[in-house]
Amino acid sequence: MTKSQPFDIEEYSHLVQSFHGYTAPGVIIGGFMVNIAKSKISEGVLFNAICETPVCLPDAIQLLTPCTVGNGWVKIINLGRFALSLYDKDKGKGFRVFLDPKKLENWSEIKDWFFKVKPKSEQNMELLKAQIKEAGETLCGIHPVQVRPELLKKEKRGEIVLCPYCQEAYPARDGEVCRGCQGRSPYLVPETSEEPILVMNSLKSREVC
Ligand code: ZN
Repeated sequence: MTKSQPFDIEEYSHLVQSFHGYTAPGVIIGGFMVNIAKSKISEGVLFNAICETPVCLPDAIQLLTPCTVGNGWVKIINLGRFALSLYDKDKGKGFRVFLDPKKLENWSEIKDWFFKVKPKSEQNMELLKAQIKEAGETLCGIHPVQVRPELLKKEKRGEIVLCPYCQEAYPARDGEVCRGCQGRSPYLVPETSEEPILVMNSLKSREVC
């Protein structure tokens, strides 16, 4: 068992509600996961985070640690696994915490949610949240990790130049024109057009996780 500090789940749920938009089960479980990982980091060590999924878990990291997507201390490396690690930002030594399927056997509602066994409409949200609260950290596995040295280097953006097409600034290392003008833009019409910008259909829907 880990010796993590218990954290106030009710208070955390309020934070999740305001930051994430609603109390998603994944962000609540993520709170327990971050708490375990934090308990393994020695006092005074500056740590960064790796999150192995873009779903829910990045928000738990951002709510409970100084690491945010914007400050670059969280890297989201999408491996499709519900796991995160916190590690010494210079040495790369840290701990990885994951939701362990073997530990879900006694928690039917959590297991059904995690494996998407039932459609959302059939989920018993109250029971799911009660089980998460009760099971807490016992759902998690933890092991030490060493982060690859290339990931510990600070990424430099280098020289900034003007794109000859859109006239916006971008890092010169991206090529002759900016990435947007290389065809990586998510918009159907060029940003410089007077036409209203149409966002691709795939980005339109607002789904809950
Ligand atoms: Zn451009």
